[in-house]
Amino acid sequence: MSLFTHVPAYPGDPILSLMESFQRDARPEKVSLSIGLYFDEAGRLPVLDSVRQAAQFLAANVEPCGYLPMEGLATYRQLVQNLVFGAGHEAVRAGRIATVQTPGGSGALKVGADFIKRYFPQAEVWISDPTWDNHLAIFEGAGFRTHGYPYYDASSGTLCFDRMLETIRGLPSGSVVLLHASCHNPTGLDLSRQQWGALIPVIVERGLIPFVDMAYQGFGDGLDEDAWAVRALVDAGAQAFVANSFSKNFSLYGERVGSLSVVCTDPATADNVLGQLKATVRRNYSSPPAQGARLVQHVLQSPELAASWDADLADMRARIKDMRARLHQALHAHFGERRDFGFLLSQRGMFSYTGLTEAQVDGLREQHGVYLVKSGRMCMSGLSRDNVQYVADAIITILE
Ligand code: PMP
Repeated sequence: MSLFTHVPAYPGDPILSLMESFQRDARPEKVSLSIGLYFDEAGRLPVLDSVRQAAQFLAANVEPCGYLPMEGLATYRQLVQNLVFGAGHEAVRAGRIATVQTPGGSGALKVGADFIKRYFPQAEVWISDPTWDNHLAIFEGAGFRTHGYPYYDASSGTLCFDRMLETIRGLPSGSVVLLHASCHNPTGLDLSRQQWGALIPVIVERGLIPFVDMAYQGFGDGLDEDAWAVRALVDAGAQAFVANSFSKNFSLYGERVGSLSVVCTDPATADNVLGQLKATVRRNYSSPPAQGARLVQHVLQSPELAASWDADLADMRARIKDMRARLHQALHAHFGERRDFGFLLSQRGMFSYTGLTEAQVDGLREQHGVYLVKSGRMCMSGLSRDNVQYVADAIITILE
């Protein structure tokens, strides 16, 4: 008699199941625009030259692999602060930020969620509607009640900022507000600087706890530009949680490299917070993995490799923008003024919310082998000069 008869089958992650169907699909013209990975023009995951050089260096200088400290590598943590907050930033120089290295951005969210649950047990968490599904899973898994704040207006395909602001303004003090720093997943719609300028004082004055998720630094407009909102929050006096990930911008998904930073009022508080973040890590997975952080540290430490990384990131960003422009042009050439695809150009980062219905997404997949997520989210980096017209034609057939 099995002990586990009450354990239900796992329905699987919808996006990963879609990848499996894609791999089984025998049609040579098939196009995957579902999973959130950056692919190059040839449809491959890139190995960045800076990362290759770092890997070669580490391979030639193999070190014993002891445990890292609970909080991760010290140099890596300092380099992360420079990258996220800006090297000369007052909060960095003052030593009032507690940063721990985590297994990817997901690990950062989980450590942050557990820490908040322990020290702010009554807090509830407010997350954009829609959001990356795992936000809900991670915060609910940490024992929180989660709620959505208005973000995307499906009828117009635009950000509903006024309703977002009104909702956030009405939250009880001490509520956690999860914000995407840039390149919002799944909509591709970000707040303008002016909108951040209206939101940030509300967060500070209402005594809310901002938790910024920055999974795509460098994919929108640039490393500093994409971190602008994080820095504006800190400049306004916010005490904030910031999760950042190197999965996408270093193309190091499987190494699990990221970090969590908590901005405090002063260095002594940051020391206490760091100590309790270490305790949170200890209770979860004891200490982070070494290799990915060593790679990132090696690149960020070397001015030449860091410049090469920045240039590669600029190329990735430019390729995504080029694909946005090409898809827009192909659709506009057909529809003219009958249908507006301007959102393809104004959205930021890897994802675009197309406004296609679930039935239209099914049609694209079944009739044309073009795979999108059922919400209509399209991963722009699955496009290439070779397939963009094919995808445009498929969309045209489905919409006409
Ligand atoms: N936040 C968002 C918004 C994401 O899209 C992702 C990755 N899909 C993550 C966090 C997690 O990143 P990681 O793979 O580094 O755990």
